[in-house]
Amino acid sequence: MAVEPQDGALARHRTRLVRVGGVPLGGACPVVVQSMTNTDTADAAATAGQVAQLARAGSEIVRITVNTEEAARAVPAIRERLLAMNVAVPLVGDFHFNGHKLLAKYPACAETLDKLRINPGNVGRGAKRDDCFAQLIELACRHGKPVRIGVNWGSLDQALLARIMDENVRRPQPLDATRIMREAMIVSALESAAKAEQLGLPGDAIVLSCKVSGVQDLIAIYRALAARCDYPLHLGLTEAGMGSKGIVASTAAMSVLLQEGIGDTIRVSLTPEPHGDRAREVVVAQEILQTMGLRAFAPLVAACPGCGRTTSTVFQELAREIQSHVRARMPEWRLRHEGVEHMTLAVMGCVVNGPGESKHANVGISLPGSGETPAAPVYVDGEKTVTLKGDGIAREFKAIVDDYVARKYPLRITEQS
Ligand code: SF4
Repeated sequence: MAVEPQDGALARHRTRLVRVGGVPLGGACPVVVQSMTNTDTADAAATAGQVAQLARAGSEIVRITVNTEEAARAVPAIRERLLAMNVAVPLVGDFHFNGHKLLAKYPACAETLDKLRINPGNVGRGAKRDDCFAQLIELACRHGKPVRIGVNWGSLDQALLARIMDENVRRPQPLDATRIMREAMIVSALESAAKAEQLGLPGDAIVLSCKVSGVQDLIAIYRALAARCDYPLHLGLTEAGMGSKGIVASTAAMSVLLQEGIGDTIRVSLTPEPHGDRAREVVVAQEILQTMGLRAFAPLVAACPGCGRTTSTVFQELAREIQSHVRARMPEWRLRHEGVEHMTLAVMGCVVNGPGESKHANVGISLPGSGETPAAPVYVDGEKTVTLKGDGIAREFKAIVDDYVARKYPLRITEQS
């Protein structure tokens, strides 16, 4: 089933639908936001705390690494702690090298997880590889868990790569090294999925991903992968990097693919700043989807960049304060007020574009630039309603926004009854 095109984006065309806990991936469902913890999974308290933080920021699925016996033993305790915190987000276990042993030895871990992520490049070498892969799939089938077959170019199956290189040599026109790498990743995902189905894993329990760190590689690989299979696709640039570089690279790659209808779930793999906020990757993923018009998570604040017409930082501070206010109020607004995530706000620096942009927003304010009368007209649904002056502009504007939410977005049924 296809998703209706939105704002020029092409319809997504996966026909398979995979359920991860209560979250559907693929089919006609909205693109899902995922994230991953960076705590030691064996530390159940720290991991549950970070899962809860990511889920509260809006992550709809959270992945945790399961790399040791201590980590596998901790998984049920993590779930218990999350339930005690009233957090019901689906958990995915990330397995490399020893997943078949951990899942066999700790069935409660397998039972607790909502999905298993397997890297076909890291499931054993040589003759053991097929056996380890078969054990993992058999365990997924036994526990009724979907599997993401997640290929990563940093751990590409070397035997498969060698085979594809051999085949390439015999081609009349051999492919270059870049194309060989891309082809090997796609073949690794597709052959692993076919083998999993042969081993009894249902086709609607398989998600694929092929992560690379180059923007053009990611776009080329996913275009080909989407054309050659019908499994839901998990999208993300691996090792995207820190700060603006990571955000820009992830956005550049994923927005091209999402616009073409490719990608059923996304993760933005940002390297956090030391002591930085892990939930930033969730906010960035949401903002990619929302600015593309694919989903709405929280009201967006439009703000001008400022220029020589305004030498003060008042409007920058107000824009930041309003964005923080909205984020802080959203958990409550989301529960109480239906549709509030579609609200638009504008905070503008002067009369040049201020009134016009403010009129386009649900609630907008145009602050005075240099030499203008020190007054800030406020526009609500395109109409000028009040002019704010003095030191209380931020407080009064936030009150106007709160009032707008209360009046315009109906209370959800549970609130009315
Ligand atoms: S709205 Fe005014 S202050 Fe803001 S960028 Fe435009 S001209 Fe400059």
